[in-house]
Amino acid sequence: MADSKNSKRPIVIGLEVHIQLNTKTKLFCPCSTDYIGKTPNTNVCPVCLAVPGTLPILNDSAVALGARMGLGLHCAIQNYSNFHRKNYFYPDLSKAYQITQYGLTIAVGGYLDIESDGKPRRVRVHHLHLEEDAGKLVHPTVDGRLTGAAYSLVDYNRGGVPLSEIVSEPDMSSPAEARDYVVRLRQLARYLDVSDGEMESGSLRVDANISLSNADGSLGTRVEIKNMNSLKSLERALEYEIARQNKVLDSGGRIVQETRLWDDAEEVTRSMRNKETASDYRYYPEMDLAPIVITDEQIEGFKRAMPELPWEKRDRFMKDFGLSYEEVEILTEQKELARYYEDVVAAGAPPARAANWVRMEVLRVLNERGADISNFSLSPSILAELVKKVENKELSSTIAKDILDMLSQENISLEEAIKRSGASTVRLTGDLLGEVIDRICAANSDVVETIKTGQDKKGGKVKFLQGLVMKETRGQADPSEVSSLLSKKLEG
Ligand code: ADP
Ligand code: MG
Ligand code: ZN
Repeated sequence: MADSKNSKRPIVIGLEVHIQLNTKTKLFCPCSTDYIGKTPNTNVCPVCLAVPGTLPILNDSAVALGARMGLGLHCAIQNYSNFHRKNYFYPDLSKAYQITQYGLTIAVGGYLDIESDGKPRRVRVHHLHLEEDAGKLVHPTVDGRLTGAAYSLVDYNRGGVPLSEIVSEPDMSSPAEARDYVVRLRQLARYLDVSDGEMESGSLRVDANISLSNADGSLGTRVEIKNMNSLKSLERALEYEIARQNKVLDSGGRIVQETRLWDDAEEVTRSMRNKETASDYRYYPEMDLAPIVITDEQIEGFKRAMPELPWEKRDRFMKDFGLSYEEVEILTEQKELARYYEDVVAAGAPPARAANWVRMEVLRVLNERGADISNFSLSPSILAELVKKVENKELSSTIAKDILDMLSQENISLEEAIKRSGASTVRLTGDLLGEVIDRICAANSDVVETIKTGQDKKGGKVKFLQGLVMKETRGQADPSEVSSLLSKKLEG
């Protein structure tokens, strides 16, 4: 496998990302956008089937979501934009043209800040435009295997679903940066409730443009790669293409500007077609639709409705909770997890310890179960109770982890889980507990000395010994009994 770090020539990458907008109905008709797993050609109507004489009607929600995403990308929202017809013939395109924005688009000139390999980088966004999706060709299969039939079927359920296409400037210089850009973009779309951003289901699709620069620093000829449906494929396709282009150039060849398809099974890109130019598409204004007019007041309204953005939340968490960049990146990756963490802190858990528990334990449990934080059964307030008990040394962290596992699996109370954890079933009391305390005091005679000579004014050393006892007894002792036995011992 290629290693882009060894590329002889500087790498230049620009991405075109399609994000399916989270509307209930299609861009120009009242059909449902819920097409996944639906019987083919059931979410269709004369408009999205292109019956002659029908007229498109613009869905305002798609405009609002496009503007929202544009604002998240620091773009300028345009007061006036319009639609064009982009003509091409393909059976999944009912009208034989796609209605898309071209030239005058809803949002222009923004950026997205990413951090890749610990280095910050700003990727400029050329523009964001709205367009409709195409349908899907269905190749006949039996038991999941292609039959080799001489025909294909077409399903128009997806045809007309609203997309926003975000076109970056060629500002990325490695496959890892391209991935980090997509990850940040997806996070933004999810924070804004603009899209679910799933690559696997096709809600987020990436076309990658890549070139290797010439010796004089000028941009080389680019190739566009399509058909990557995961972040891993995106990186692999770019790695492959960097190796391929270097090889062609090394042997004195030239790069042809073309569109290549990523073959996920073979891990290669293959030439699909020569790059179309704008004239191939015979763009012309869509006269059946009025221009999109967005007033300054509306733009102000969109701005006011913006939630806290991922990087704003990240900075606030770092400042308010004294957490590191890395910790906060994990906590704020999903806004639902960030919310959960904030609720744990609001319920009284110390921020740093709560951050560890959410980052390590909650994510571990969710991961093990393939579950999602939004339907996690352990409430933030119960987790806060648990974290507080660890903080107060009432429970050892080992036992607390078992308790967390129990609570996330079964609908039981914290008390019940503590009981079942063994923290209280096997109680260490009286003489047995006294023996543990004697042992710990003997092993820490210097600390005991400090306390006995009255130098432990704040009681920190006593707390320290108490913690050791709780740890040693794995939470099987009653903290108040430990405390009273210990003070007796220290007085005597
Ligand atoms: P077109 O209109 O032909 O699609 P654009 O100029 O709109 O071309 O660019 C499309 C995408 O290709 C953009 O994301 C842009 O950043 C990227 N791009 C342009 N030139 C290069 C290049 N030399 N290398 C890599 N990507 C490029
Ligand atoms: Mg383009
Ligand atoms: Zn329709």
